[in-house]
Amino acid sequence: MFILALLSEIITALVILRWLWNNCAFSLDNISQAASAKENLLDAIEERLRYIQEHNLQLAHAVDTEIGLYEVAKELSQSLEEEEVLSAFKEKVSAIFNLTDCSFIKNPSLENRGSGYNVFKISAASPGAHYFAVRDFGKINRAKTLVLLGELELFLKRAQLYKEIQELSITDSLTGIYVRRYFLERLTEELLRAKQGGFALTFLLLDVDNFKSINDTYGHLAGDAALSGIAGILQSSLRSIDMCARFGGEEFCLMLPETIKEQAFLAAQRLRLKVEESRLKAFNETLACTISIGIASYPDDADQINALIDKADKALYKAKAQGRNRVCAAGIK
Ligand code: GH3
Ligand code: MG
Ligand code: MG
Repeated sequence: MFILALLSEIITALVILRWLWNNCAFSLDNISQAASAKENLLDAIEERLRYIQEHNLQLAHAVDTEIGLYEVAKELSQSLEEEEVLSAFKEKVSAIFNLTDCSFIKNPSLENRGSGYNVFKISAASPGAHYFAVRDFGKINRAKTLVLLGELELFLKRAQLYKEIQELSITDSLTGIYVRRYFLERLTEELLRAKQGGFALTFLLLDVDNFKSINDTYGHLAGDAALSGIAGILQSSLRSIDMCARFGGEEFCLMLPETIKEQAFLAAQRLRLKVEESRLKAFNETLACTISIGIASYPDDADQINALIDKADKALYKAKAQGRNRVCAAGIK
């Protein structure tokens, strides 16, 4: 009996042991599988994170480059002068993209910029700037440099077209009176007519007094309005055969055909007085300006345009030296 009971106990224990063995081995297996799955998952997450970080860096770099391109285009759009467009380009690309040792060159073979430099041809070439040479692309690459040069070419073309239009136009955009080039063409014709007809012809050079301080006090826009006002006074004071033009900056020129120096002197004094007495409207300001005038006549002072201008310029200089707001004529003390 006792032996039977013992056997039964042993068999029960063996069954339990077997059950335990089967189930524990299964659980251990599960645990190690779960651990390796977790490790795999962590690896995958880490790799994904690395990818996202790299992707973000690339994205940030791309955004920086696009903003840089925009900044360069914005700067180039500020100017209509080729020289200014070129220098703004060089300055901005060097500062934004760290392009080192870059410059515009006329001829790479002559300027020894072949080795070590990347040289790009500029299709809208300006004098002295037919190529762009750069040693190190800095923060960008060759492709982006080409994009930048595309922008540069656009703005150079715009400046060139603007210059062409300026040259074709005969009136000054600010004052509405003739431009110097057109005036000099007419003066050449008038001088010839004077020589052939035996008439006198007087040339006047006018300069606004202390104009820099007007700009400094009231601002450049008010200065522009004052120039426009003075041009209006000149225009309205002339005979139909006379002609005035903007000589440049705050200087004007006049020609009075069939007019001897003494008559021109009186006309110049009237003009000077008219400007002195006028009050020029410039936005909210009312400005008072004076002018100085230099006079030279054909045939008394010169018989060539350049010499006539030179004599009038010297007389103008004398008027300035004598205190401004006055008229001086060549050959008169
Ligand atoms: P001066 O009596 O000796 O002629 O003195 P000034 O101050 O008139 O002469 P200066 O040559 O020193 O200065 C001329 C100024 O005229 C400087 C320049 O900025 C200004 N000017 C030239 N063109 C323009 C223009 O189109 N608009 C304006 N607002 N200013 C101009
Ligand atoms: Mg001047
Ligand atoms: Mg002046």
